[in-house]
Formats: sequence, structure tokens, C-alpha cells
Amino acid sequence: MNALYLHVPFCPSICPYCDFHKMLRHEGLVARYLDRLEEEIHHYARLYPGPLRTVYLGGGTPSHLSDAELTRLLGAIDGAWGRQGRVETTLEADPLTFDRERLALFASLGVDRLSIGLQSTQDDVLRYLGRVHDGAQGLEAVASALESGMRVNVAVMTSMEGQDLARDLGAVAETGAGHVSVYSLTIEENTPFGRRGYQVDEELDATAFELTGAVLSGYGLEHYEVSNHAVPGQESQHNLSYWRGDYYLGLGPSASAYLPSHGPFGARVKQPPIKGWLAGAAPEVDVLDADSFILERLLTGLRTRAGIDTASLAARSGASLEEVAAAWLHDTTRHGLLRQEGALLTATPTGLQRLDAVMRAFVGSRRPVAAVSRS
Ligand code: SF4
Repeated sequence: MNALYLHVPFCPSICPYCDFHKMLRHEGLVARYLDRLEEEIHHYARLYPGPLRTVYLGGGTPSHLSDAELTRLLGAIDGAWGRQGRVETTLEADPLTFDRERLALFASLGVDRLSIGLQSTQDDVLRYLGRVHDGAQGLEAVASALESGMRVNVAVMTSMEGQDLARDLGAVAETGAGHVSVYSLTIEENTPFGRRGYQVDEELDATAFELTGAVLSGYGLEHYEVSNHAVPGQESQHNLSYWRGDYYLGLGPSASAYLPSHGPFGARVKQPPIKGWLAGAAPEVDVLDADSFILERLLTGLRTRAGIDTASLAARSGASLEEVAAAWLHDTTRHGLLRQEGALLTATPTGLQRLDAVMRAFVGSRRPVAAVSRS
């Protein structure tokens, strides 16, 4: 257990496409949030003393916390686990929430990586997304973060009508950021965009995926996970632990964790939204069995260029992929979606693009591990 995700749900404004657990802040609420979070930190640090390799403050907009609030929060983490052994501390940040002085404060608190929600460099696209910064402000924020010596991820959104994606990606890569994460706009029903009936053009979405890989690889940013591109050595160590299937802690309202408890395959634990979480309501616990363990390993492992070691998956789950899903393995490798080299199973570039369909086919054709052991 060496990775910690901490959810900070407060944002300076609410974007109309967003379905994360987020809200506008008010002083009383933030103070109660920090009180409860400190209790949670102490509780989990007693159970899982670390040391922590990675800490990720996500949200919401963690950089929207004041200097004093961030100092208190990161101080509580340091007090509980220390900083020894830490290789990465990431803070998600909105471009308008920091300047040089604040960057120095972040660094003094142990933050060494910023994930900046830029989304686009084009003012009309940013207005459509309801973002409060403009293109120039976003790029200036990225430049000043890099100048301060932080490692930087820039988050870019694709698949909006009227967006010149190549221009966005080129402008981001030109800043010298070592990591770019690229997600397509998805319309969720429970958001203002969903209620307005907005839709994403599927063709635009498919071309965006190909264009993204082509533009970013030209700048030395390698496509190491479906949505993530990095200069070698700048991959997100925290996210790699999710994709490898490692256990991790998740604290704060609506945060998810994967804990080594409740049996040999561990349990997914999800904290309640803020009201219940502040009142100390119990988290939801989903105990994994051999079948859900295999499914989760495929879902996360196949997203990455590193793929999956099928031999250790079989040793852990008690059944090989050949026994669980022979036809699926055969079809996906024959159609050039997956590649098998010895024990290593990876998605091809085409497979990466169609990973949802690949995984739906797996779910529709697999045999339960219990049935394998009986036969
Ligand atoms: S800033 Fe991020 S978390 Fe907050 S509303 Fe916008 S997209 Fe959602």
C-alpha cells in the first residue's frame, strides 16, 4: 500500500459538462471538510503506515484551497506518513489558481507535479466548456509551472465541434510539458450539457484519437496509456499503480480505494458523497472474487503499453485466460486487436482505440473461474 488519492471537491466555478463530485466552496464547509479529513488520515495511517510512494490530490480543484488550507492538508499527510520514500506528489490545478508565489508554496509543501486543467487553448472552445480562463492565461500558467521546476501534466479535451485539435496539441507540446492527458468530451445525462441534449460526433471522436497520437509523438510524447502521453521518464507514477492493479488508499468524499482486505483479491471501497462522508457514514465495499479480479486486471492493464503478465494473472486467479476466454483470446489476436508474446498480452494501436468493444466481447464470452476449476 504505497499510493494515496485524496479528493478535494471544491471548484472556483462549475463546468456544465462535469459529473465529478464537486461543489462551490464556503468557509464553514471547507473547515468541516478538513476536520473530517484529518480524522480519516489518522485512521488510515494507523491501518496502512506506508511509506507512501505517491500522493495525488485530485478533485474538484485542489489548488482552489487557500494557502493555509493546503498547508494544513499536506501537513496532515506528512504528519501521518512522512515524506520519506515519496517519489511523486501531484496537485490538480486550475490555471487561474496559482502564480509564482503559490508555486513556491506548493513546492515547499512537497508538491513536485502539477496537473493543469487547460482543456483547450482556443477561447471559443473554452467559453463553450464554461471554463473561466482563456487560452493565453492557460498557456502562461503551464509555462510558469514549468519554469518553477515542477513536472507538469496538461489535461486537454477533444471532440468539440469547431476545435482545431492539432493547434491545441501543438501549442501544449510546444510549452515543453512532459506529460499530456487527453480525454474526449463525454456527455453525461445528469449534467447541464446532458440536459440540453448535447451530443458528441463519433467520427470526430475517432479522428481525434488518431490525430492525438500522431501530433504528440512528433514532440517525443509517447502514448503509454489510452489517454496519456509522456516523455519517457515522466509517466505518472501514481496512475501507473492503478493500471498495474496495485492497492491504493482513497480519502475524502466520493474517493475510491482498492484495499488489501476482505479476501485474497482485495476490495474496492468507495467513500460516500460529502453529506454522508461528513456525518461519518460507512463507505461502500465491493469485495472482488476471482472473476471480477480478472476483469479488472484486463480493464486496467490493457489500457497501458506495458500490458498484462498473463502468467501471474493465472497464478493469482487460479485460471488461465486460455481456460476462461479461449475464443475471445483467439479472435482478438487474429483480428489484430491484442498481441500475445509469451506471457505478455498487450493491446495493439487498433485494439487501444476499440478497447471498450474488446472488453464487452470478453464479458460476453468468458467462463467463470469456478466452472474452469470444476471441468
Ligand atoms: S473545474 Fe474540473 S472538477 Fe471542477 S467543475 Fe470544472 S471540470 Fe469539474
